[in-house]
Amino acid sequence: MKKHDQDFMKRQNRLTVFEIIKSQQPISRAAIAKQTGMSPTTVSRIVAELTEEGYLLETEQVSAGLGRKSTLLAMVDAAVLSVGVELDRHRIHIGIVDIQGNVVAKTDYARATDESVNATLERIGAEIDRLTKSNEIDCGRLIGIGVGLPGIVDNEKGVVVFSVQLGWKNVALAEKLKAITGYEVAIDNELKVKALAEHLKGAAIGSSRTAMLGFGNGVGSALIVDGEIDRGKTNSAGEIGHTTIDPNGMMCDCGKAGCLQTYINIHSLLSEANKIRPVRTIEELFEARRAGERWAVYLVDRALMYMAITINNVVCMHNPDTVIMSGELTDKFPEIYEEVAELCIKRFVWEPLRGTFAIRPSELSGQGVVIGSGLMSQNCFFALE
Ligand SMILES: [Zn+2]
Repeated sequence: MKKHDQDFMKRQNRLTVFEIIKSQQPISRAAIAKQTGMSPTTVSRIVAELTEEGYLLETEQVSAGLGRKSTLLAMVDAAVLSVGVELDRHRIHIGIVDIQGNVVAKTDYARATDESVNATLERIGAEIDRLTKSNEIDCGRLIGIGVGLPGIVDNEKGVVVFSVQLGWKNVALAEKLKAITGYEVAIDNELKVKALAEHLKGAAIGSSRTAMLGFGNGVGSALIVDGEIDRGKTNSAGEIGHTTIDPNGMMCDCGKAGCLQTYINIHSLLSEANKIRPVRTIEELFEARRAGERWAVYLVDRALMYMAITINNVVCMHNPDTVIMSGELTDKFPEIYEEVAELCIKRFVWEPLRGTFAIRPSELSGQGVVIGSGLMSQNCFFALE
């Protein structure tokens, strides 16, 4: 075997052992060897390395059946920390995430929609600095930054290819933010990292095929199969918001007419509402619906119908075991979840597929992107280390 192949194998083995301890702790060395097929010597060597580096600790536990003492391994949660950033048009959320995906410190602030790329990134750098200082975070433990944002993202090159919401095109975000902060930076589409977070910590634990839907300023989806994000050829799989529903329909902010998201997203709902009377916020629109104003009832009901249609289409295409509804609309108006689930079951999901999947609201809602981005950064770190 060539030297670099050997190194690669060693890294892979190390990552495998690490992942097993992380997800199944506390666990014995023997159980790891059995699961991975590695020799006990290899497992012990890797465990010794990881313990020495401060990632693991040993605990003694008496096993239930035999009353024998065995040594089990567990993670030191704060051994590795990363920064998770949710970068959105109007607001930026930043959190310090530990190895279990717990947010140990966080902050958020408003972003001016016309703010330049550099100004946005300089501010993120300054806020991370402030957050770590005010929470006395040991920066030696901080291994990198993960950023989740809406749009098409080249996750391998760290480039934002195109983001309608941010108005960015071909922005070398990872490189720029690294230059400002000094940390390694990983970036990805927000729904993809959010789905990862739900899979590891939230509504999709134990699911082997999760479809994550986002209804908010845009409409999107992400698919996780056996723990892996389905990326497609250019990391654009899941851009369901721009599938064409009606070629003669409303203009979408992507420049095409009749995209699915023009029936659902907040911007379109507000611009339709304003044809009737001045409505400044999505809350006002839902208020008018609750008050029984016919036009508001019509607009929101139509949006909910298209959400149910989206779920049917995704279920027909991907046959998932779990569908998670997330995004600003479902976060702000939790009643949507029940209504759409009912529409799915009674009308819109094709009969043979009814009952083959669970529909769940996002469990991490507001924090999903921060947690997922932080965990993505850690995954990159352990894979490359
Ligand atoms: Zn579009």
